[in-house]
Amino acid sequence: MDIERQRAVCEELVLVNIVEELVKDRVNALIGDFDMCSCRICRMNACALALNELPPKYVTTTRGVLFALVSVKGDAYQTAVDVEVAKALEKVKDHPLHD
Ligand SMILES: [Zn+2]
Repeated sequence: MDIERQRAVCEELVLVNIVEELVKDRVNALIGDFDMCSCRICRMNACALALNELPPKYVTTTRGVLFALVSVKGDAYQTAVDVEVAKALEKVKDHPLHD
């Protein structure tokens, strides 16, 4: 473990891409609205497709305030996230990476 990482652990700081948190949340929320497989593989594929289309937004934070931060920052990104998540779910629905 390097010094930077050790310091981060000591201060209980985590590096988080809040867009990733939003996308995971929206995929889980919206997948039920699509008539499609909702297994872990399909959900993760949808997350990957959507995240490749969205610029990341990294923050350092402590675990305790992560959810508050995501909900505050979320407003500005929510529309773009919803659009990309819907497109990603359509793609996975049409071409699931499993039988
Ligand atoms: Zn599946």
